[in-house]
Amino acid sequence: MRLFRPGFLAGCLYPEALFRVKTTEKILYLTFDDGPDPVSTPQLLDILKEHDIKALFFCNGGAAETYPDLINQILKGGHLIGNHGYNHFDGWRTDSVKYINDVTRASKYTSDKIFRPPFGRLSFRQKRLLKSYKLVFWDIMAYDFDVTFGSENSLRVLKKKIRTGSIIVLHDTASSTITSIIGEFLTFAINSGYRFELINVFT
Ligand SMILES: [Zn+2]
Repeated sequence: MRLFRPGFLAGCLYPEALFRVKTTEKILYLTFDDGPDPVSTPQLLDILKEHDIKALFFCNGGAAETYPDLINQILKGGHLIGNHGYNHFDGWRTDSVKYINDVTRASKYTSDKIFRPPFGRLSFRQKRLLKSYKLVFWDIMAYDFDVTFGSENSLRVLKKKIRTGSIIVLHDTASSTITSIIGEFLTFAINSGYRFELINVFT
């Protein structure tokens, strides 16, 4: 089953996490997971620059260590980098000490303040051990990483689900379909009266 918006349960499990920014204004927040990637990152940065939009990149620690130039390009573009773990572990299936060590290892190359758990899964113990991090989840998942879903369906989800304060999760990977549709989505959102901002993670 594809869940385009986290269910009620997610908010109960992670009450301290940010899913949607409280605002009455038509503001959207773009986030890109799993990068950096030599194919998709430069393309995304170009498109974002064209539209003068800043985004939050939840980078994979391993990829960030491999591609420091891409990390620099993201930062130079005025974007923010968050921590998405080093090895993309599933918190529900990973021993807590191993999990925390993985996040700490990734923090050297990404962030020691903002974290998005891979798969959105974190145990209560892991959550407690990571309490110094601001946890950022999402309000809209477009399944751009899922080639069987297809770019047209992802575009339809994005157009239909956006609402004030939505945090949108997309993927900065070569296999993601997002680079083919993001331009059209940004134009649609802007023409619908939305603007894009960076999440203020320190409030
Ligand atoms: Zn991920």
